[in-house]
Formats: sequence, C-alpha cells, structure tokens
Amino acid sequence: MPFTRLIVRAMLALAMLCPLPALARPVLLISIDGLRPADVLLARQRGLTLPNLTAFLANGSYAQGVTGVLPTLTYPSHTTLITGVSPARHGIVANTTFDPMNINDGGWYWYAEDDKAQTLWDAAFLARMTTGNVHWPVSVGARHITWNLPQIWRTGHPDDRKLVRALATPGLIVELEGQRREGYADGKDETLPADKLRAGFAQSLIRHHQPGFMTVYLTALDHQQHLTGPGSNEAHKTLEAIDAMVGEIIAIERQFHPDAVIAVVSDHGFASVDTAINLFRPFIDAGLVTIDAAGKISGWEAMPWATGGSFAIVLARPDDAALRAKVGALLARLAADPGAKIAQVISEPAIVAAGGNPRAAFYVNLKIGAVAAPFLSSGLPLVLPSNGYKGMHGYFPAAPEMRSTFLIAGPGIAKGRDLGEIDMRAIAPTLARAMGATLPGAEKPPLPVLQQAQDK
Ligand SMILES: [Zn+2]
Repeated sequence: MPFTRLIVRAMLALAMLCPLPALARPVLLISIDGLRPADVLLARQRGLTLPNLTAFLANGSYAQGVTGVLPTLTYPSHTTLITGVSPARHGIVANTTFDPMNINDGGWYWYAEDDKAQTLWDAAFLARMTTGNVHWPVSVGARHITWNLPQIWRTGHPDDRKLVRALATPGLIVELEGQRREGYADGKDETLPADKLRAGFAQSLIRHHQPGFMTVYLTALDHQQHLTGPGSNEAHKTLEAIDAMVGEIIAIERQFHPDAVIAVVSDHGFASVDTAINLFRPFIDAGLVTIDAAGKISGWEAMPWATGGSFAIVLARPDDAALRAKVGALLARLAADPGAKIAQVISEPAIVAAGGNPRAAFYVNLKIGAVAAPFLSSGLPLVLPSNGYKGMHGYFPAAPEMRSTFLIAGPGIAKGRDLGEIDMRAIAPTLARAMGATLPGAEKPPLPVLQQAQDK
C-alpha cells in the first residue's frame, strides 16, 4: 500500500475514534409557542416585520420545517425539544394528565419528575455549566436548573403567585421583582403583556446571573392563534411584538456572552379550525363510558384522552381482547362516517413506532379543522362548534401544518445554511454539542450546523 494511502487510512481511523467536535459555548434557547416556520421564512411575503427572527436566515442555520412528535402538543413537544426523545420515552404524553374521573382540576404535566429522560439542563449541569429557565414547560422541581422560574398555575387566583414563588429557586422572584420594580407574570396568563413580563425577567436573570445554558418560553402567539386563527392580523401583531422581545433578550445575552450559540424554536405549527368532535357521545352510547344521575362520569371501560387535534384511547383492561375488539369496531364505524371528521385511527404497533403514548390502545387523528373535545357534558352530540377556538394543533406530526421552527446562530455555526426538513429529536443533541455536553439517550444525531472547518 502506498505510504500516502496508509497515512490517509490512519487519519481516518483516528477521526473515527475522536468524539464529535464540540463548541463548549453558552447556549440560549428561546421557544415561541406555535410559531409556523413559514412565518419567518416568508415573513416579507406575509407582510410580517420580523427583523430579529429573519436575521437568523442570513446569520445562522435554519430548518424549512421541524417534524414533531405524537401528539403535536405543547408539553410533549417541549419535553422532546429539551431531551431529544419521543413522548413514549420521556413520558410527557399529553398536556393534561390522564384523569378519567375529572378529579385533578384540569391539571397539566407541570412536574419535572414525570419527565423520565435526561434534559439539556442535566447535560449542562454535568458539563459544569450554570442553568437558567423562564417558564419552560415541565420544569417544576427540575433538579439541575440553577435559577428556575417554572411554569405552573392552578386557578388564576392571586394565590397562584405564592405557588410560583414557592416552586421557583428560593428568593429568585423576590430578587428579580426588586430589580425590575414590577411583579412577575401570573402562571395562567398567556397574553402578550405576560410574555413582556417574562421576557423582561429573562433579561434580568441573564444580566445578574449569566447562566451558561438558559431557556425562555413565550406563550402569547399560541394563545392568539387559538383565539383568532393562524395568520390573523392579531396573530401577526403578536408575533411582531414577540420578535422585538426576542431581539432584546438576544442583545443582553450577547452583551454578557459574546460567544453564545442562540437557538429559537417552536413546539408545533397551527391549523385553522371550525368544528369540535365529542367522542364521549358514541363512547357513552356504546356503554364504554358510564354517567351517573348528576351527569358526571361514574365509570369507564375505554376513555378518550383529548390531545388537541387527536384522541388517545385508553382501555381500562388492556389485556381484555373482547374490549379491544369492541372499541376497535366502534372507531372503525366512526371513521367511516364523514361527519365524525376522523382522518386516521392507528393501534398499538403504529403508536409504538410513532413514539406516542404507551397507555393508548388506539390513537385517533382528526381531520385538520376539527378539534378533540374533552368531556364537557353527557348530553352533547358528536359534532359541536369549536367553542371559541379558531386555531389548533395536536394532530399527527405528518401534517405539513404541524411543522415547527428551528433557527440557530452564533460563533462556529454555519451562516445561511438551509437544513431542510428536520426531526424535532435532533435539536436537543445539537444544542448539547454546542455547549460541549452530550445527551447519550437522544434518538437522533446532532444536526450539521457547524461551520465546515469544524464539521470534519
Ligand atoms: Zn404549544
């Protein structure tokens, strides 16, 4: 073998042994709930003025769209964004917990103990970085967040503020409120003024503590798109205001961490809706859900678990073949009825393959435009008006409307690189690599966002 080829072989072998190159940079991760990728990619065509978000297209790398998880809901998606694994692995399979008898007062998966996967906060901690968080989902009690303002609410009563103070890093809210001379946002408040407060608190947290890895979550665009629909004037105004907040947060981060890698993500896209589907009607009629004299659920054999544009179906006895067959036949009958607006019903092998809820025996995807109704009242029909909702998500992730956003920029990140369509599970390992950490459990490899010289 010629000497030069030997050298090349030796170098290749050495390269295979070397770990992936890491940047070991501070990382700032901002999530804009419900941001559709084309609102940034086609901002000008859509009449949107988004100087800070569109700057990523020239100064950084970006996805045409991010394919999300089953279901395309806020909590499952944010937990995939922070862990790199599917809902089946991390365990945050819906926004709301499974509560067939409606005793949990609409409780969400607020608690980090329900997330079974390693997070980027954990990875940063292991890499000896400090971490900060403002309002990221499923962060209550997260062990490795140095300065944590977690998301939680109960009723919207002023007492909720005491709950947030008690669950945040001790003293942090009082400290930041003193610096800012204003109160922190209510946990239940998803409006633009609440985003402005949280963005301001994020800036103060960065200014005073400079966490090496920082997460910030903004809710108002999702809230507005639910109310007035994606692409509405109100949604556009909200997004333009959020763009300005993102610019301010980035400016502070750059002031304290000029070498920071900054990523902006969203959790899912959005679709316009006009109808709601109440699967409780046929389940009650088939005797699968029983109702007491007061009209409340008193028992169940099979329970629809509403997840936005889809339903997980949980069986009381998963090993009961007759029950499974009965529910399967009912769902097949409904799927054949155009009025039920069912796009697809999948069962266990397909749910496992999609990384969806392990407790679901079936998963029902509605047609875009229809919303899965939770249990409201025993007397309601199958088809309902969408009850004030003009936009929704939560459909199966294959729907193009459900694509979400990924933008990343900073020293060492390729400029103007179009990553095409990416998998949401690739984002967390990419950010771990940027901070010089690892997420060994991630289901996808890091994205090729590094500049060529460092890509080898
Ligand atoms: Zn969301």
